[in-house]
Amino acid sequence: MDKKQKNILIVEDDKLTLSQIKNSLKHYGYRVFAVSTATEAVDFCIKSVIDLVVLDLGLPDKDGLFVIQQIRSFNNTLPIIVVSSRTNVESKILALDTGANDYVTKPFNMDELLARMRKEFRYMTTEDKHIFKNGNLTIDYDAKTIYVNGIEVHFTNFEYKIVCLLAGNMGKTLTYEYIINHIWGEGGQDQNGLRVFMAAIRKKMSRDGKSGKLIRTDIGTGYRMNKVN
Ligand code: CA
Repeated sequence: MDKKQKNILIVEDDKLTLSQIKNSLKHYGYRVFAVSTATEAVDFCIKSVIDLVVLDLGLPDKDGLFVIQQIRSFNNTLPIIVVSSRTNVESKILALDTGANDYVTKPFNMDELLARMRKEFRYMTTEDKHIFKNGNLTIDYDAKTIYVNGIEVHFTNFEYKIVCLLAGNMGKTLTYEYIINHIWGEGGQDQNGLRVFMAAIRKKMSRDGKSGKLIRTDIGTGYRMNKVN
């Protein structure tokens, strides 16, 4: 992939930082777009084709975490690199858990940011992140479509998000709280509510009599998607 064709969205309200990033990225051949608020950022990502987002967290209207949440609700693959003056480890963990791919603290070194961007693009070219396959389950992230045994199966928006979350963490047990916080936000659902969604997901996945076993329950802890052949 030619990096000259990459569209980068910079979300930054500080003019000096913005012009610094903008100028460097342009110099390296990226096509650069810039917005200064969280609302504009989400809007831009919905309407435009962007290859990577460079995101500040301290924005005038809403927190940058809101932007990550919103983007991840419709796009699991768009790389998001946070560039923030929040240097504490809690902020980093929170941003990464919310769905950021990487985190650079201010003041930052431009060469480091560029290297981290290249890393994201390298991942994209070395593995096809738009299609997920495990056993008889296939997720087409671009089309937001799930296939079971090659047949398209309708999953509701929340069901789809849960399947994608488990698929993106294959082999790991995700706690009830982790799943709930990711899908609905903190306190947005209770464990019984989650169980209902999981039951529906399992039912849809077991239509071929096999894929139902893809998702395991770790009783009292959470759920895990196992890798199968
Ligand atoms: Ca800021």
